[in-house]
Amino acid sequence: MELPEIDELLAGAHVVTLPLITRFRGIEVREAMLLRGPEGWTEFSPFTEYADPEAANWLGAAIDFGWSAPPPALRERIPVNATLPAVPAAEVDGILARYAGTRTVKVKVAEPGQVIADDVARVKATRAFLGPEGRIRVDANGGWNVDEAEHAAHALAGFDLEYLEQPCATVAELAELRERLHDWQLPIAADESVRKAEDPLAVARAGAADLLVIKAQPLGGIHRALQIVAEAGLPVVVSSALDTSVGISMGAALAAAIPELNYDCGLATVGLFETDVAIDPLVAVNGAIPVRRVEVDERVLADFAASNDRRHWWTARLERCYRLLSELTPGS
Ligand SMILES: [Mg+2]
Repeated sequence: MELPEIDELLAGAHVVTLPLITRFRGIEVREAMLLRGPEGWTEFSPFTEYADPEAANWLGAAIDFGWSAPPPALRERIPVNATLPAVPAAEVDGILARYAGTRTVKVKVAEPGQVIADDVARVKATRAFLGPEGRIRVDANGGWNVDEAEHAAHALAGFDLEYLEQPCATVAELAELRERLHDWQLPIAADESVRKAEDPLAVARAGAADLLVIKAQPLGGIHRALQIVAEAGLPVVVSSALDTSVGISMGAALAAAIPELNYDCGLATVGLFETDVAIDPLVAVNGAIPVRRVEVDERVLADFAASNDRRHWWTARLERCYRLLSELTPGS
């Protein structure tokens, strides 16, 4: 990939601070840098705690989406999942009612301070809400050890789970659990274990997962992610990193280009923002989001502009990441 000049990147850059409807990942506001390339709006939004070598992949992704044509889209709509936080069972119906028409729910489990009975009650209520045709996956965010995960898999066996996402923290634990659950036909998905470009192959080689949760920004962009998926040879779920509609449009373009997409994607997160940057946000309608670019609302850019301090912080971060990328891109 040829890098555009840094002045060209910065010329169209805006930094926004967007409030979330609820605390998520320990944050109440999401900062994002939006850039405008010849292909349209693109997003650079590594979480603020990420170090530069990791954040540089996100910049590569932003440049890829803004400055080069996306691969051919094999589909126009991407089916997406609802996400159910680790709430008491009594609150399940109220939350899922907001996702009308969505056939798949990702249920958060293994919340610190809760027990497996809480997870069972939440999944049971979800199954009752969806009926037998709905699809349920559970996401433990690495919160169980192997024994706990095996126990949970038994306890949840009656609810016809689609897969178990990141039940344990490490690749070695996932591999051991997968061995133990071998006869269960309960697939294991790796999410947190897939953060860098080299991770998918490591997970695949270790036999640690049946499928991968992949995100366009951390993997360095759509084109790079497609290569990685092909090399890993495992089915994938395309997900987001709490992106604005601009980043979601990148995720949708990636999902649209995956040859075989058999799982609904984690791209229905725009609803977590109180305000989104797009004139026509990429929210799910009837369980799917459309594959298209978005136009950014100038008024939102102005009203939610980050403070000068934060804008300077993001600009300096972009400059450092750009230098890292230049070193990796011979001839640029
Ligand atoms: Mg996850």
